[in-house]
Amino acid sequence: MRLIEMEIARQDWKGMLCGCGNTAEHLAEYLLQLAGHGPEQRPIHVSFEGHVWSPAALWEPAPAVTSVALAALADDVAPTSRGWFLELLHCMVAGEGTELPEHCRALATQGIWLLYEEVMSNRSPGAAGDAFEILTVVEPDRARLQRVREIAAAWLPVCCRTGLCDDDFDGSGLV
Ligand SMILES: [Zn+2]
Ligand SMILES: [Zn+2]
Repeated sequence: MRLIEMEIARQDWKGMLCGCGNTAEHLAEYLLQLAGHGPEQRPIHVSFEGHVWSPAALWEPAPAVTSVALAALADDVAPTSRGWFLELLHCMVAGEGTELPEHCRALATQGIWLLYEEVMSNRSPGAAGDAFEILTVVEPDRARLQRVREIAAAWLPVCCRTGLCDDDFDGSGLV
Protein backbone atom coordinates (compact mmCIF):
# COMPACT_ATOMS: atom_id res chain seq x y z
CA MET A 1 0.00 0.00 0.00
CA ARG A 2 1.18 3.46 -0.86
CA LEU A 3 1.55 6.33 1.59
CA ILE A 4 -1.25 8.27 -0.08
CA GLU A 5 -3.61 5.28 0.01
CA MET A 6 -2.81 4.76 3.67
CA GLU A 7 -3.61 8.39 4.44
CA ILE A 8 -6.87 8.28 2.45
CA ALA A 9 -7.94 5.08 4.22
CA ARG A 10 -7.21 6.64 7.64
CA GLN A 11 -9.77 9.44 7.26
CA ASP A 12 -13.43 9.16 8.26
CA TRP A 13 -14.89 10.43 4.96
CA LYS A 14 -18.37 9.04 5.67
CA GLY A 15 -18.57 11.06 8.85
CA MET A 16 -17.82 14.37 7.12
CA LEU A 17 -20.19 16.64 5.25
CA CYS A 18 -18.93 17.66 1.82
CA GLY A 19 -19.54 21.15 0.40
CA CYS A 20 -21.84 19.57 -2.22
CA GLY A 21 -24.23 18.35 0.49
CA ASN A 22 -23.32 14.65 0.33
CA THR A 23 -21.04 12.81 2.70
CA ALA A 24 -17.37 13.25 1.84
CA GLU A 25 -17.04 9.59 0.82
CA HIS A 26 -16.67 10.44 -2.90
CA LEU A 27 -13.63 12.59 -2.08
CA ALA A 28 -11.59 9.45 -1.43
CA GLU A 29 -12.26 8.45 -5.07
CA TYR A 30 -11.41 11.94 -6.30
CA LEU A 31 -8.10 11.94 -4.46
CA LEU A 32 -7.17 8.52 -5.86
CA GLN A 33 -7.97 9.75 -9.37
CA LEU A 34 -5.80 12.81 -8.84
CA ALA A 35 -2.95 10.56 -7.73
CA GLY A 36 -3.37 8.25 -10.72
CA HIS A 37 -4.61 5.32 -8.62
CA GLY A 38 -8.25 5.42 -9.68
CA PRO A 39 -9.87 2.81 -11.98
CA GLU A 40 -8.17 4.46 -15.00
CA GLN A 41 -4.70 4.02 -13.47
CA ARG A 42 -3.51 7.40 -14.70
CA PRO A 43 -3.73 10.90 -13.18
CA ILE A 44 -7.12 12.45 -13.88
CA HIS A 45 -7.87 16.03 -12.92
CA VAL A 46 -10.82 16.51 -10.60
CA SER A 47 -11.94 19.88 -9.27
CA PHE A 48 -12.47 20.13 -5.51
CA GLU A 49 -14.21 23.48 -5.80
CA GLY A 50 -17.68 23.30 -4.32
CA HIS A 51 -16.69 20.17 -2.36
CA VAL A 52 -13.78 21.25 -0.18
CA TRP A 53 -13.22 24.90 -1.01
CA SER A 54 -14.87 27.90 -2.61
CA PRO A 55 -13.48 31.41 -3.02
CA ALA A 56 -15.34 32.29 0.20
CA ALA A 57 -14.87 29.30 2.48
CA LEU A 58 -13.53 25.83 3.22
CA TRP A 59 -15.72 22.84 4.09
CA GLU A 60 -15.40 20.17 6.75
CA PRO A 61 -13.20 17.71 4.76
CA ALA A 62 -10.50 20.38 4.18
CA PRO A 63 -8.10 19.22 6.94
CA ALA A 64 -8.39 15.58 5.77
CA VAL A 65 -7.69 16.67 2.19
CA THR A 66 -4.71 18.71 3.42
CA SER A 67 -3.23 15.61 5.10
CA VAL A 68 -3.73 13.53 1.96
CA ALA A 69 -2.11 16.20 -0.23
CA LEU A 70 0.96 16.18 2.05
CA ALA A 71 1.11 12.38 1.92
CA ALA A 72 0.94 12.63 -1.89
CA LEU A 73 3.95 14.98 -1.92
CA ALA A 74 5.90 12.48 0.19
CA ASP A 75 4.79 9.64 -2.10
CA ASP A 76 6.02 8.68 -5.53
CA VAL A 77 3.30 10.31 -7.67
CA ALA A 78 3.57 11.50 -11.28
CA PRO A 79 4.70 15.13 -11.86
CA THR A 80 1.20 16.07 -13.11
CA SER A 81 -0.30 14.72 -9.90
CA ARG A 82 2.28 16.55 -7.75
CA GLY A 83 1.31 19.79 -9.45
CA TRP A 84 -2.39 19.20 -8.80
CA PHE A 85 -1.83 18.29 -5.16
CA LEU A 86 0.23 21.46 -4.67
CA GLU A 87 -2.58 23.55 -6.19
CA LEU A 88 -5.07 21.82 -3.90
CA LEU A 89 -2.87 22.38 -0.86
CA HIS A 90 -2.52 26.03 -1.83
CA CYS A 91 -6.34 26.40 -1.76
CA MET A 92 -6.46 24.72 1.67
CA VAL A 93 -4.01 27.12 3.34
CA ALA A 94 -5.04 30.34 1.58
CA GLY A 95 -8.50 30.62 3.22
CA GLU A 96 -9.26 33.66 5.36
CA GLY A 97 -9.08 33.49 9.19
CA THR A 98 -11.51 31.15 11.00
CA GLU A 99 -11.11 27.65 12.33
CA LEU A 100 -10.80 25.40 9.25
CA PRO A 101 -8.08 27.39 7.43
CA GLU A 102 -6.12 27.65 10.70
CA HIS A 103 -6.33 23.88 11.11
CA CYS A 104 -5.17 23.32 7.51
CA ARG A 105 -2.27 25.74 7.93
CA ALA A 106 -1.18 23.95 11.13
CA LEU A 107 -1.19 20.63 9.23
CA ALA A 108 0.71 22.08 6.28
CA THR A 109 3.34 23.51 8.66
CA GLN A 110 4.21 19.92 9.55
CA GLY A 111 5.17 19.41 5.91
CA ILE A 112 7.39 22.41 5.32
CA TRP A 113 10.42 20.31 4.35
CA LEU A 114 8.39 18.62 1.60
CA LEU A 115 7.57 22.09 0.31
CA TYR A 116 11.17 23.30 0.53
CA GLU A 117 12.27 20.19 -1.34
CA GLU A 118 9.77 20.99 -4.08
CA VAL A 119 11.11 24.55 -4.36
CA MET A 120 14.79 23.59 -4.35
CA SER A 121 14.49 20.61 -6.73
CA ASN A 122 13.10 22.90 -9.45
CA ARG A 123 11.41 19.92 -11.12
CA SER A 124 8.81 22.26 -12.56
CA PRO A 125 8.68 26.08 -12.30
CA GLY A 126 4.91 26.01 -11.66
CA ALA A 127 5.24 23.51 -8.81
CA ALA A 128 8.22 25.37 -7.30
CA GLY A 129 6.18 28.59 -7.32
CA ASP A 130 3.11 26.92 -5.77
CA ALA A 131 5.23 25.29 -3.06
CA PHE A 132 6.91 28.61 -2.31
CA GLU A 133 3.57 30.43 -2.08
CA ILE A 134 2.29 27.82 0.39
CA LEU A 135 5.46 28.40 2.43
CA THR A 136 4.84 32.16 2.50
CA VAL A 137 1.57 31.35 4.32
CA VAL A 138 2.68 28.57 6.69
CA GLU A 139 6.41 29.05 7.43
CA PRO A 140 6.90 30.76 10.81
CA ASP A 141 10.63 31.23 10.23
CA ARG A 142 10.68 34.23 7.88
CA ALA A 143 14.50 34.35 7.79
CA ARG A 144 14.65 30.80 6.39
CA LEU A 145 11.98 31.64 3.82
CA GLN A 146 13.93 34.71 2.75
CA ARG A 147 17.14 32.68 2.41
CA VAL A 148 15.41 30.20 0.09
CA ARG A 149 13.80 33.07 -1.83
CA GLU A 150 17.32 34.30 -2.63
CA ILE A 151 18.80 30.88 -3.43
CA ALA A 152 15.87 29.89 -5.70
CA ALA A 153 15.56 33.33 -7.30
CA ALA A 154 16.80 32.04 -10.66
CA TRP A 155 13.75 29.80 -11.19
CA LEU A 156 11.01 31.18 -8.93
CA PRO A 157 8.21 33.18 -10.61
CA VAL A 158 8.62 36.98 -10.41
CA CYS A 159 5.87 37.38 -7.76
CA CYS A 160 7.71 34.99 -5.41
CA ARG A 161 11.13 36.51 -6.12
CA THR A 162 9.95 40.05 -5.42
CA GLY A 163 7.66 39.16 -2.51
CA LEU A 164 4.57 40.45 -4.33
CA CYS A 165 2.56 37.30 -3.54
CA ASP A 166 3.71 37.27 0.11
CA ASP A 167 1.47 39.26 2.49
CA ASP A 168 4.10 39.13 5.24
CA PHE A 169 7.02 40.08 3.03
CA ASP A 170 9.20 42.78 4.52
CA GLY A 171 11.58 44.11 1.89
CA SER A 172 12.83 46.99 4.05
CA GLY A 173 16.15 45.33 4.91
CA LEU A 174 16.90 44.31 1.35
CA VAL A 175 18.99 46.11 -1.20
ZN1 LIG B 1 -18.80 16.69 -2.65
ZN1 LIG C 1 4.52 33.97 -6.16
